[in-house]
Amino acid sequence: MKEYDLIAIGGGSGGVATARRAAEYGARVLLIEAARLGGTCVNVGCVPKKVMWYASGIAQALRDAPGYGFAEVAGRFDWATLKQRRDAYVERLNGIYAGMLDKSGVELKRGFARFSGPRVVEVEGERFTAPHIVISTGGRPALPDLPGAELGIDSDGFFALEAQPRRVAVVGAGYIAVELAGVFHGLGSEVSMLVRGDRLLRPFDAMLRDELAAQMQEDGIALRFGTRARALRRQADGSLLVDCGEAGSLEVDALVWATGRQPNTDRLQLAAAGIEADAKGTIPTDAFQNTNVPGIYAIGDITGRAELTPVAIAAGRRLALRLFRGGSDSKLDYENIPTVVFSHPAIGTVGLTEEEARKRFADVKVYSTRFTAMYNALTEHRPKTSMKLVCVGADERIVGAHVIGDGADEMLQGFAVAVKMGARKADFDDTVAIHPTSAEEFVTMR
Ligand code: FAD
Ligand code: NDP
Repeated sequence: MKEYDLIAIGGGSGGVATARRAAEYGARVLLIEAARLGGTCVNVGCVPKKVMWYASGIAQALRDAPGYGFAEVAGRFDWATLKQRRDAYVERLNGIYAGMLDKSGVELKRGFARFSGPRVVEVEGERFTAPHIVISTGGRPALPDLPGAELGIDSDGFFALEAQPRRVAVVGAGYIAVELAGVFHGLGSEVSMLVRGDRLLRPFDAMLRDELAAQMQEDGIALRFGTRARALRRQADGSLLVDCGEAGSLEVDALVWATGRQPNTDRLQLAAAGIEADAKGTIPTDAFQNTNVPGIYAIGDITGRAELTPVAIAAGRRLALRLFRGGSDSKLDYENIPTVVFSHPAIGTVGLTEEEARKRFADVKVYSTRFTAMYNALTEHRPKTSMKLVCVGADERIVGAHVIGDGADEMLQGFAVAVKMGARKADFDDTVAIHPTSAEEFVTMR
């Protein structure tokens, strides 16, 4: 049995970050990856998604261009060309990841890992052990169980699409649903969103939810709230008939299930190592990423907490510091994690929603603004930008900052630093604006 100081199972955002950092600190590290290096984010998540989001942004810019004096600029869009270029980019990244691991001195084992005993990991008959084992196996799309569900695709299937469907239904109302619906629509597909509840992005601040829904509707996306897909059937012409029960039926060329994800623990044989998971398969951890078994840790999506790439990376790096550099207090603070939804328009948010703040604090003051960005002064398409600061206490500490509008994606990182540092409204007021930008409204709200 081969021995290491650390074994990381899963070569995605979290596993790679932990392995590289531990190796930098001098640990002998084995990283096991069953599929492509980089995991969800690089292969079927953040990276290819952002490429598609840029493409739909370009399509919008072309539609906006006549407002700026450009005549007849609308270009012919070819989905297959974009896919081929996007896939090539992702493949380059896979190679870069392999190179980085090699340079850091991390040993890479390709194959599917399972526990076969306490502290024993097996890959196709080969056995490995280490005093420290980190589980970073991420998750995969979860499909509902209903007749014909397999006729739809999930987000992995979205990235595999060779051609653009003309009519699309997107089921769900979370990050993935609104992002993919926005991309399809931006690139010219006819889009319906089937939402079981009465709102998009349920956990987000109401201002963001309402503005996004209004803008998507205004742009021509059909939002069908209170609607569930009950069954799917392939028709003779190749199209799909989506039966929505009392809400009628819908004919589309593709249906995307964006109905959540499930953790990759079902085939890990956790029981062989005594590791506990909850009913969904998520592995609970304490603040230091410890599972119930000493020496075995879990990071990233598998823990079910803030399923974001930088969270997996940050947790992994702090764990490596704690284990191999004596950083005994090193752990990730899960408060005030900023996040962006790459919808059209984009959403940036950090901290508490207004609703959450009112539940937690007696003295809440909210500042908000709504305006048309200067870019849109000359365009026919005139989406609104909205911002909100949620402040608490007599000194108006900012506990939440929320924005929806063009540029929100690049705007929020710096403000997240301020919120994390405990900025007061007066600190924002005291900061000179950068003009003319949308971001300046964050420091001029009254
Ligand atoms: P993963 O990246 O999923 O890596 C897990 C790895 O483990 C995989 O490579 C898998 O093959 C491997 N594996 C699983 N089981 C085994 C096994 N038994 N043996 C060996 N290997 C195994 N986050 C953002 O921050 N920004 C975004 O814009 C963003 N966009 C997203 C868009 C989509 C469509 C999706 C699906 C997700 C997106 N995310 C985004 C979330 C982000 O991708 C995840 O939070 C992140 O990838 C989690 O990292 P991880 O290391 O926990 O798991
Ligand atoms: P989310 O948890 O964000 O959303 C899941 C959605 O599916 C919810 O709207 C939920 O509805 C709906 N849903 C669940 N089951 C059903 C069902 N049976 N029928 C209809 N609707 C259903 O998950 P996602 O899969 O969109 O994303 C997973 C995670 O990945 C995100 O939470 C985020 O952390 C990360 N991610 C981050 C991105 C970014 O940083 N930009 C982009 C994409 C993903 P309801 O609201 O009623 O519960």
